[in-house]
Amino acid sequence: MEAIEEMLETNPMLKRMQATEEVIWINPDKTSFTDAKDSCELTMADIDDAEARLQRFAPFIMKCFPETEERGGIIESVLTDIPNMRTLINEKYDSHLQGRLLLKQDSHLAIAGSVKARGGIYEVLKHTEELALANGILKESDNYAKLAEPECRDFFAKYTIQVGSTGNLGMSIGIMSAAVGYQVIVHMSADAKQWKKDLLRSHGVTVIEYQADYSEAVKNGRKQSDENPMSYFVDDENSRNLFLGYAVAAKRLIGQLAEKQVPVDEMHPLFVYIPCGVGGAPGGITFGLKQVFGDAVHCFFVEPVQAPCMLLGMSTGLQNGISVQDIGLTGLTHADGLAVGRPSGFVGGVMKPLLSGEFTIRDGKLYDYMRDVLDTESVFLEPSACAAFQGPIKLETSPETRAYLEKGDLKDKMKAASHIVWATGGSLVPEEIREEYRNTFIQE
Ligand SMILES: *Cc1c(COP(=O)(O)O)cnc(C)c1O
Repeated sequence: MEAIEEMLETNPMLKRMQATEEVIWINPDKTSFTDAKDSCELTMADIDDAEARLQRFAPFIMKCFPETEERGGIIESVLTDIPNMRTLINEKYDSHLQGRLLLKQDSHLAIAGSVKARGGIYEVLKHTEELALANGILKESDNYAKLAEPECRDFFAKYTIQVGSTGNLGMSIGIMSAAVGYQVIVHMSADAKQWKKDLLRSHGVTVIEYQADYSEAVKNGRKQSDENPMSYFVDDENSRNLFLGYAVAAKRLIGQLAEKQVPVDEMHPLFVYIPCGVGGAPGGITFGLKQVFGDAVHCFFVEPVQAPCMLLGMSTGLQNGISVQDIGLTGLTHADGLAVGRPSGFVGGVMKPLLSGEFTIRDGKLYDYMRDVLDTESVFLEPSACAAFQGPIKLETSPETRAYLEKGDLKDKMKAASHIVWATGGSLVPEEIREEYRNTFIQE
């Protein structure tokens, strides 16, 4: 801990983080994509593989979840312009945002109503395919709708899936695992909302509740799973599968951007803002976006001031060797999806040469931005998801990001830029909870 004391003495940003001030961090280790590309253990071929697997499972998904029929069993969200919100942030928050502002509505992804419908569901399907192929239940050339038949469900009922979660990952893994036929145990941290636990139990999922934070729920889940040879543990902190499930979003975005006539190239930079918890979702999406758009895309994470675990890990270089509690923060936040005290070391390492930077945000603003986007665009997002608005609101006016734009020769291109706020959750929030959120005001 002495080393941490010393860092706090010499690092002004850490001191400000300790005092729960909002900060903006520009990643000094970011390199050109050409230089970064070869340093990662994962490649575009891995994303292609994940995309093809999701395609193989599409008939099965369509059969289990009729709401996905419209998209042929592909779980994907819309990308929409939010011009009224753009006007509002420029007036209300004096943001001076010049380019086009878009919302990626993973909040409305089918089945799980959050970004976790990408990674979580993909990992369950990957495991399912491995089990089914190894046990002669399935050939790769089969129509995977077959997996919904009773004999297959009986086979999967012998197996258990377990996961630690602050809420949304549990919902995505729980709902999909129950659909395949597995027994499911979700280990929920103290942050998890009651309605998420209730919803899971209604799907027949066993929910174990902890009084401790996310890391403790993960630790216990992993331990219980390791003791059972028929159990598979979804490891949010280290899973390459989850990460690749998230990364597929980038390939799908190519067509959506083209459709909306949003150019992305050297003269038309794309800025993307994603809320970050343990790092898997924003990390996977960023990894995919960099593979697809290279240096033309600039990705920023946003974390709560009480739980800036990825910022702490990346900016100190200690990755998962430091927790927010180590600098005296609580890790407690209204942003339940982001309530993580220790980041994924795997994601931090992959992000080192790719991520542009990070913003932190006070909890009170989550509710303000939530009301803003509801009032201007009639889209309901959960508070965690609204963290992403901190990016476009601060980008063109804060000294740190202005310097970033200057250094990257981006200043003159901002009129031609586009900004994507990655809305990570919200559509499953029950009406009475929405009402509660709409009336939540936090004095800070
Ligand atoms: C999980 C989650 C995130 C962040 O994902 P991580 O993989 O934990 O970084 C962001 N927003 C919402 C709503 C989430 O549920």
